[in-house]
Amino acid sequence: DFSHDIVIIGGGSAGVSVAASLLARVSDLDIAIIDPQDVHYYQPGWTMVGGGIFEPEVTARTMGSLIPRGVSWIKAAVSAFEPANNAVILDGCRVVRYNRLIVAPGLKLDWDAIEGLPETLGRNGVTSNYRYDLAPYTWKLVKGMKSGKAIFTQPPMPIKCAGAPQKALYLSGDHWFKSGDLANIEIEFCNAGGVLFGVKDYVPALQEYIARYNAQLSFMHNLVRIDGPARKAWFSVTDAGGNKEIVEKSFDMIHVVPPQTAPDFIRVSPLADAAGWVDVDQTTLRHKTFENIWSLGDVMNAPNAKTAAAARKQAPVVANNVLADIGRVKGIAHYDGYGSCPLTVERGKIVLAEFGYGGKLLPSFPGFLVDGTRPSRISWLLKERILPPIYWKAMLKGKEWMARPEVVG
Ligand code: FAD
Repeated sequence: DFSHDIVIIGGGSAGVSVAASLLARVSDLDIAIIDPQDVHYYQPGWTMVGGGIFEPEVTARTMGSLIPRGVSWIKAAVSAFEPANNAVILDGCRVVRYNRLIVAPGLKLDWDAIEGLPETLGRNGVTSNYRYDLAPYTWKLVKGMKSGKAIFTQPPMPIKCAGAPQKALYLSGDHWFKSGDLANIEIEFCNAGGVLFGVKDYVPALQEYIARYNAQLSFMHNLVRIDGPARKAWFSVTDAGGNKEIVEKSFDMIHVVPPQTAPDFIRVSPLADAAGWVDVDQTTLRHKTFENIWSLGDVMNAPNAKTAAAARKQAPVVANNVLADIGRVKGIAHYDGYGSCPLTVERGKIVLAEFGYGGKLLPSFPGFLVDGTRPSRISWLLKERILPPIYWKAMLKGKEWMARPEVVG
């Protein structure tokens, strides 16, 4: 059996950041991170891989190189919770005890929920930027396409990086626009939702690019089945009266974003809400029922945009509040729901969506520098050159660049 004062489940964007934020505040803590994976991914880079801008390797680092010095790494997967005993159970039935628990295992990409998808991913023109090994295939397909039909799908909310499905469309459209092939390529955006983007301030700028790439918007279209070799996809389409019918479409390439849920071991646990996500107070990120449990990142149920940018702001909040509970810092930190989605509308320009709870705009930069609702070159430089080093060198190291939380009391 293992026992640690603070146990963190998940060594992703949220888990490593919160460990580093804890140590930045108090250096003599007994912390363990539980994560079975050898590799940690900078997933926001995958859109750039799919657009031919980043090499895939720049988005991956070994887990061992990122876990902060002094933090124990338990290389295993958690399978169950026993909050009454302050314990989690690992695969293979080993037990890890804690005084305080931080839950950050991300979400589950449910590829299997679409009939026929797993067996054709990476072949027959079927791709997705949502997987490290598939994002390069997106770029290969885009470069090779001179005519035909390209479909981009978006599943029901919530998903991580809600803008990523259309980012793939814009970067592909931009390539065909500049190669001169766009006139022979038909683009369709099949979105299970009913709007282009959830915060209306950003929609006009996005709409201009939909028009530039001559993309057809098909709302309430939810991908349910795919036949790769036949190059056909089936969508469940809901009409205004709520009636559903299945519609068949042919494609030459299709960029699929899978449905997303809480991980199975979370969904069936006593920590979950009715929808399966970890049930937290959206301001303090403390669990609503279990006082010595906090959660951050994609796995929890606060209504923020599920992004690494959100985890960057959440990590110091959770670190502060765990340490306040132990009596090592004063005051309770509050999270305002900040999340960010840099929409890569063309190579060289980004619409930088930054917003908090209720769709309140929370720009990081003054309006004269960056107007987030308009395409901007500075925002592209931020995404291409500045954000990756901020991620590796500041966020994962507990240097809270632009992420200092409001502390009350
Ligand atoms: P993750 O980073 O996914 O990490 C979860 C970790 O938990 C993993 O290491 C995993 O191995 C571990 N784990 C899972 N199960 C268990 C278990 N049972 N036991 C122990 N450990 C476990 N965000 C942005 O801010 N900007 C963007 O532009 C952006 N673009 C994106 C584009 C794409 C294509 C994708 C896929 C994501 C994008 N995101 C973006 C979202 C961002 O990557 C996530 O929101 C962020 O990684 C969430 O961090 P997390 O720590 O919650 O989850």
